[in-house]
Amino acid sequence: MSERPYRVIRRRPSRQIHVGSVPVGGDAPISVQTMTNTITADVAGTVAQVRRMEEAGADIVRVSCPDEDSTRALRQIVAQVQVPIIADIHFHYKRAIEAAEAGAACLRINPGNIGAAERVREVVKAAKDHGCSMRIGVNAGSLDRHLLEKYGEPNPEAMVESALEHARILEDNDFREFKISVKASDVFLAIAAYEGLAEACDYPLHLGVTEAGGTRIGTVKSSVGMGWLLKKGIGDTIRVSLSADPVEEVKVGFDILKALDLRHRGVRIVSCPSCARQGFDVIKVVEILEDRLAHISTPVSLSILGCVVNGPGEARETDIGITGGGTLEKEGAANKVYISGVPDHNIGNAEMIDHVVALVEKKAAEIEAAKAADTMADQIAPQTAAE
Ligand code: SF4
Repeated sequence: MSERPYRVIRRRPSRQIHVGSVPVGGDAPISVQTMTNTITADVAGTVAQVRRMEEAGADIVRVSCPDEDSTRALRQIVAQVQVPIIADIHFHYKRAIEAAEAGAACLRINPGNIGAAERVREVVKAAKDHGCSMRIGVNAGSLDRHLLEKYGEPNPEAMVESALEHARILEDNDFREFKISVKASDVFLAIAAYEGLAEACDYPLHLGVTEAGGTRIGTVKSSVGMGWLLKKGIGDTIRVSLSADPVEEVKVGFDILKALDLRHRGVRIVSCPSCARQGFDVIKVVEILEDRLAHISTPVSLSILGCVVNGPGEARETDIGITGGGTLEKEGAANKVYISGVPDHNIGNAEMIDHVVALVEKKAAEIEAAKAADTMADQIAPQTAAE
């Protein structure tokens, strides 16, 4: 029994598939994905963008393949990046076959849109031959006409029915290595559709609130929609959709998972909004630290609080903590530094940023060293037992 039962999330049991080396569903960590917005045929530009996404922590990247030039480029792109690549295909079954041959780890394609049954068979064969999984992606904005006629509008029932129709086509071809999304730009519709689908099948679910808007509103809508679902245990991989640099999508995706304690990557900063009691300029310090600590991928928690009102309490729960001690006007070496929740030493405002960066880097190195030692011990133990 957890010490804090209100923080427990019981994930919906789902079957596990693979997108290249990344497991999706089952007990796999919830993966974060994004999508390139370069011209796919521009190999250098696309590879450069995928590498930036990799640096930000993306587990999976999707690339549009609207034409033959794109699927040709895909082969070169896949060869130059580490992260598994999903080929985004609409309608053209030949692009799907080419993408599978070019090394795509997964095809995002709706089998019901491909046309004749023979074409579906060919795509499934290509996927099987090349170890590709698939994603069925139902979108409220492009629902099949017969479902719109039946339901009158894109409602949750229509979206779930559409997803299951596409799924049945793949099942009839003896193919079950797929995940499903039922995206909508309306948060209520997306939530209800995913809840319905989660009940109706055990396929892994790719979450997304689509066409969510620019960075601020898109982040809010994605956090509300996906946060609700993830808290209920629904969702195996997520994509935040923003009209912004796709690297932001990765950052926001991880922040949503971090907020729900579902995954940890990089420095998690707890900070106060600041007020007249602050002993240093909290907003400026946090802004600079976010930037200076962006290179750290090891999970480290850091609290930056302007004064003793909430500083010591938050510092007790984080790896490194700073609590403002003086006042903005009368600064001195008055800010308290906490290490592993315990008051350790003081630091002045002028040295604080460099000092915190050094402390966090040191902590991250210690965590990595301990992890490496554990892995080594795990590897040695079976050998010793066998001797
Ligand atoms: S922690 Fe202190 S400085 Fe920060 S908002 Fe609260 S009272 Fe103000």
